[in-house]
Amino acid sequence: MEAHNYTSLKEQVWNTLLCSGCSLCATVCPMKTIYFSDEMPVSYNLCKNEKDNVPCGACYSSCPRIDTYKDKYGLGPVLNAYTARSTIPIEKQQSGGAVTAILYNALERKLIDRVVTVGQDHTTMQTYSIALSTPQEMITHAGSKYIWYTPSLLALRDLIEAGITRKIAIIGTPCVMQALRKMMESDNAVLNRFKDHVALLIGVFCTEIFSYDRAMQLFKDASVHPADVKRIDIKKDMLLELYNGDTVTIPLPRDLMRRGCAHCLDFTAVDSDISAGSIGSYEGFTTLITRNRTGEYYLNSAIENGYLETSTLETLDKVETFAQRKYKRNKK
Ligand SMILES: Cc1cc2nc3c(=O)[nH]c(=O)nc-3n(C[C@H](O)[C@H](O)[C@H](O)COP(=O)(O)OP(=O)(O)OC[C@H]3O[C@@H](n4cnc5c(N)ncnc54)[C@H](O)[C@@H]3O)c2cc1C
Repeated sequence: MEAHNYTSLKEQVWNTLLCSGCSLCATVCPMKTIYFSDEMPVSYNLCKNEKDNVPCGACYSSCPRIDTYKDKYGLGPVLNAYTARSTIPIEKQQSGGAVTAILYNALERKLIDRVVTVGQDHTTMQTYSIALSTPQEMITHAGSKYIWYTPSLLALRDLIEAGITRKIAIIGTPCVMQALRKMMESDNAVLNRFKDHVALLIGVFCTEIFSYDRAMQLFKDASVHPADVKRIDIKKDMLLELYNGDTVTIPLPRDLMRRGCAHCLDFTAVDSDISAGSIGSYEGFTTLITRNRTGEYYLNSAIENGYLETSTLETLDKVETFAQRKYKRNKK
């Protein structure tokens, strides 16, 4: 059984600001002694391993910033690459709505029974971890809850504790995918109660994440109320589309990035079953990379049931360029 507990994690990852904020440590802690404050993990010091030597180490065994993250970069394993779009009308889709279509189909066909993803408050734009259970909820929650940090896995903990679900799909950024894959491959027995329930991992391409408070300050400086923002897109600048039809461009300061993101080399979410992004496809389409047979199975089911249109992507050159750019920037 793993000898390390949260104190090793605190020394090696939290105090060094290496933490990606994937939130799996807080999710898997049996004592719920890890929580997030100011976007960083903190412990209530109730760790049973620390206090009573109860075998655990779940947080340490699943942390992606212990060793493994250095080997995660580039395109990763590619079974097939597609450009895709949903055939279902989705008002808030970010790219082609392909992620929503795949999971809409999977929920409808009962291939899965929950999707752990990120929800967003409409007034404050604050984001939170949420579990969805119906195809209609997938449509309601479409679109990237962009840019700021969310401990996105906490809803997984609640599902496992409630014992109400067996097959869970999880959407997440590359660090979240790395954490979940590490958990699935770990031989730490404390993690078994999570492993058995995870059916599908959908990773989104990701360059970096920002801090919510800093982003809100930028909104304030530009006299934008978060409740007026309909859609955010990140290109070179932050592009805000407002409900009144106006668009606002906010230049992105370099130091807006969350500190832990500076160590991440993975743009394409190499540890997912399916990766999804806008880069590499025309406007209105999603680039999809299936990494294994699990990913292909869920994608093909959505195609067969008429929810997803795909064509083969001839080249991943553009995706590779972005992946290399992130690698070079953060390897320094
Ligand atoms: C933080 C972030 C950064 C990204 N950076 C890039 C980038 O640099 N380059 C690029 O090409 N693509 C990036 N993407 C991916 C891109 O924005 C789209 O998510 C992707 O193209 C899929 O589009 P879609 O229309 O198929 O997704 P949709 O059908 O709109 O579905 C998106 C799904 O993702 C879920 N979701 C939204 N935000 C989050 C989140 N933060 N964590 C977990 N789940 C979430 C939604 O609830 C929804 O179910 C990023 C996405 C996110 C969330």
